[in-house]
Amino acid sequence: MNSVPKVPPPTNEPVLSYAPASSERAELKRALKDLSGRQVEIPLVIGGKEVRTGKTVDVVMPHCHRHVLAKTHQAGSAEVEAAIAAARDAWSDWSVWGFERRAAVFLKAADLLATRYRPIVNAATMLGQSKTAHQAEIDAACELIDFFRFNVHFAERIYAEQPLSAPGVWNYLDYRPLEGFVYAVTPFNFTSIGGNLPTAPAIMGNTVVWKPAATAALSNHFVMRLLDEAGLPPGVINFVPGPSAQVSERLLSDRSFAGIHFTGSTEVFQALWQRAGMHLASYTAYPRLVGETGGKDFVVAHASADVDALATGLVRGAFEYQGQKCSAASRAYVPDAIWPRVRDRMLEMLAEVQVGDPADFRNFMGAVIDRKAFDKIKEYVEAAKRAPGVKLLFGGGAADADGYFIEPTVIQSEDPAYRTMCEEIFGPVLSVHVYPAARWTDTLRLVDQTSPYALTGAIFAQDRRAVEQAKTALRYAAGNFYVNDKPTGAVVGQQPFGGARASGTNDKAGSLLNLIRWTSPRAVKETFIPPRSFTYPFMAES
Ligand code: NAD
Repeated sequence: MNSVPKVPPPTNEPVLSYAPASSERAELKRALKDLSGRQVEIPLVIGGKEVRTGKTVDVVMPHCHRHVLAKTHQAGSAEVEAAIAAARDAWSDWSVWGFERRAAVFLKAADLLATRYRPIVNAATMLGQSKTAHQAEIDAACELIDFFRFNVHFAERIYAEQPLSAPGVWNYLDYRPLEGFVYAVTPFNFTSIGGNLPTAPAIMGNTVVWKPAATAALSNHFVMRLLDEAGLPPGVINFVPGPSAQVSERLLSDRSFAGIHFTGSTEVFQALWQRAGMHLASYTAYPRLVGETGGKDFVVAHASADVDALATGLVRGAFEYQGQKCSAASRAYVPDAIWPRVRDRMLEMLAEVQVGDPADFRNFMGAVIDRKAFDKIKEYVEAAKRAPGVKLLFGGGAADADGYFIEPTVIQSEDPAYRTMCEEIFGPVLSVHVYPAARWTDTLRLVDQTSPYALTGAIFAQDRRAVEQAKTALRYAAGNFYVNDKPTGAVVGQQPFGGARASGTNDKAGSLLNLIRWTSPRAVKETFIPPRSFTYPFMAES
């Protein structure tokens, strides 16, 4: 085809309201009923073929753990080998597809998700990961649609970035896919991240082995089906649920391992990096290691803060999706001058929060993801109840008879270094330290130095000078920094997402910077009239 097609300019997918009587609400309720009424069998997908190993793991509803939604077939070493071989085979073809052909697959995937697949993927996320309709919509539908559309647009911009050509010469960059496969390891907490980590490298012409989180397997399975329907060729993305450590070990020891696209906890990413380091000399090329990991995200308030805005930011930022967002507000620093008003307003709002089954649309929170998370969060809360200098201001209850429910919990700690102020809990627990308003600059230093993470953070202040002071003092404390807003809810194309320090490689998911990691450019210089003698003019004697 003789053409330089332009990708349609992306815009963010509108968030549907699911208000009573809306058509989207009726469709979503139908999908919830359908998925709750049957058990899905989730196969591996290798080279475009469904593979059933017979060894399965249950996917349950976190808010009703008796209810088995699906059974996921698990990969053993033979299937991992087969996935590597399938990725290698598909690479020969996919890595030379023209960009417009690849782009069309993902633009179609976006449209399928925006329409027919929307209720299915949202319902699977609500049931399998215990998200409310709104939390599922902004994640599984809108963010993943945005990832598809914006990443195609960013890829186009990367390809258009070309060097200068001097007279008589034509220079250009050939943006090659990496030589080998990319390993995508995805977390439970965002269906959109599940979809983005394998597709971002694929958009750049790479082939991928994708290991989903066991607890997100249901929604991720539908994403895989959607990609197939969008026309993704067999073997470009191979879906390999299974025992994480074994699957990873085999993949990381393969000569053609070309990179890892990871989101999850800091410890797991560090372990994967170390394994890659051990095998380094055996790889075809230096692998790209991209990981977005944990956080201990802060909200720091100045005495000039708007109390209602601050209390709202804390409630939404800390408790939406049960605090299981890497960006969730989990430590707050509030000056004594406004604390009583902030506390009362926050507790007033929390008293209205309902926790329960997300299929009941009145609930603001569901359950935490699994038994392991429940036990860990409960242990933090129980220890806090007994710790000197620590007050439980709200919540503190946990019940696991039906689902893994933890009440929204607010802890006040005199000691700003108390463990709940420093460690990632990944649950609905907000720790607050009240500081003397006069110690504003010391508090900023404290916020910066309290935790090893640097993912998200927010400053609430109406005094412009205080905003600027916080922006400067906390420059390295967060990769996503918010002024008078909650630290969650980054939007693709608007707030490129990622943090540094122990929070990751900060390659900014949903941005051009991330896609650059999945290409290895070749610079080509063509000289039209090459020199025909080795001598230079300066060598002549007059
Ligand atoms: P996790 O680290 O437990 O799991 C992430 C993935 O790694 C899963 O697929 C899991 O199966 C796999 N895994 C676990 N152990 C492994 C091992 N030993 N070897 C290889 N793979 C292994 O994380 P999670 O519980 O799914 O997600 C929560 C974590 O993710 C939190 O720490 C959160 O802050 C982080 N997170 C970060 C971001 C970000 O953008 N920075 C976004 C979402 C989540």
